[in-house]
Amino acid sequence: MTLLAVNDALERILKSFQSLEKILIPLDESVGRVLAEDISSETDLPLFDNSSMDGFALRVADVKSACDATPSILPVVDDIPAGKMPSRELRAGEAARIMTGAPLPLGADAVVPVEETDFNNRAPGTPLPEKVKIYKTAQVGANIRKRGDDIQHGQNILPRGQRLRAQDLGMLAMLGIANIPVYRKPRVALLSSGDELTPIGEELTAGKIYDVNTYTLRAMLESAGCEIIHLGVAEDTPESVRDSLSKAKDADLILSSAGVSMGSFDFIKAIIEEDGNLNFWRINMRPGKPLTFGYYHEIPFIGLAGNPVSAFVGFMVFVQPVIRKMLGCGTQAQSHARVRLSNAIESDGRESYLRALVHRENGQLYASLTGHQGAGNLFSMVQANALLIIPAGVKSLKKGTEVEAWLLDS
Ligand code: AMP
Ligand code: MG
Repeated sequence: MTLLAVNDALERILKSFQSLEKILIPLDESVGRVLAEDISSETDLPLFDNSSMDGFALRVADVKSACDATPSILPVVDDIPAGKMPSRELRAGEAARIMTGAPLPLGADAVVPVEETDFNNRAPGTPLPEKVKIYKTAQVGANIRKRGDDIQHGQNILPRGQRLRAQDLGMLAMLGIANIPVYRKPRVALLSSGDELTPIGEELTAGKIYDVNTYTLRAMLESAGCEIIHLGVAEDTPESVRDSLSKAKDADLILSSAGVSMGSFDFIKAIIEEDGNLNFWRINMRPGKPLTFGYYHEIPFIGLAGNPVSAFVGFMVFVQPVIRKMLGCGTQAQSHARVRLSNAIESDGRESYLRALVHRENGQLYASLTGHQGAGNLFSMVQANALLIIPAGVKSLKKGTEVEAWLLDS
């Protein structure tokens, strides 16, 4: 039997999803959210010509021959702190004390920093001097941030699909945008299954193991920007699985792990067939072959394989792109590189995702496997900083061969 190729499986899954609705949220809650509209500027920035130094605003023509021996001496006619408008226009032969960020008075064409004057005293409350000596000449525009130097009215600032970072929030604040159009968070119902699973914190009895996938998958869903509906751990009975799935009501996706192999207690696939619609089961991939996709009633359902590495890799390959599609930010985000194998490796002909440590040596990236690649060996995943992707049909690769790698920590 030929198994469905990974790419075909992904394509089939992605077809069932589209971007979610747009909502408006306050700027201070928007970090990590994804923009649902392009943002352009409705103003120039800086908004007004202002000083980039504490100093004196003046006219360049009035300090043309200023030097240490023969400073230009100008009357100080105004005092302009940040946040206040100048009280009047500057005329020929005059100077105004000005602080960083304060609006430049009309008539001035440069700011001379205090360090280049005889008034280098910036202690709070220092009274305005009557006159100031200027020891240096100045260029037109010196120490002035002109209106529109950084951003012009109408300029594109942030694209739809951008995941908002701290600097983006600052930018939006600079533009005065208080409510941000973002995609609503995908609601994902998360289910683990298996009679052997014990929540951490409870004592393990004979034959039991701790539930791992709930924690891994929850963390991955949270960092991907999802809201989680916790379905808990279902027992290996059709009743318990159905009972859990029935709580998934307004989910955009049900994500489960385990219970989809060929074991006598793997009911999940049968329940999807009976209560919904099975699109496919099993793919040409390692780890994670028993991947299941379909609908539980009207809700898209992805069943990941149960072994901890299978669930992790399955999430990266199939669930990550689905979430990105719901969030309108393009489906492929994994940072990747070509890397050279430090050792020969064997694969089994399925598309394989191997745990590896990639390091750089003389400008070239090299990869070595982090340990045995059993689907339950999460430690080799913990030690890895990359997944090597060995294409379907390939069974052995020589040392030095270049392969594609997903870089995990970048
Ligand atoms: P299954 O597909 O149910 O046969 O599970 C395959 C393997 O993954 C079994 O060894 C399970 O014990 C293990 N497994 C399934 N779910 C989890 C989980 N949530 N945490 C840790 N191991 C799991
Ligand atoms: Mg099981």
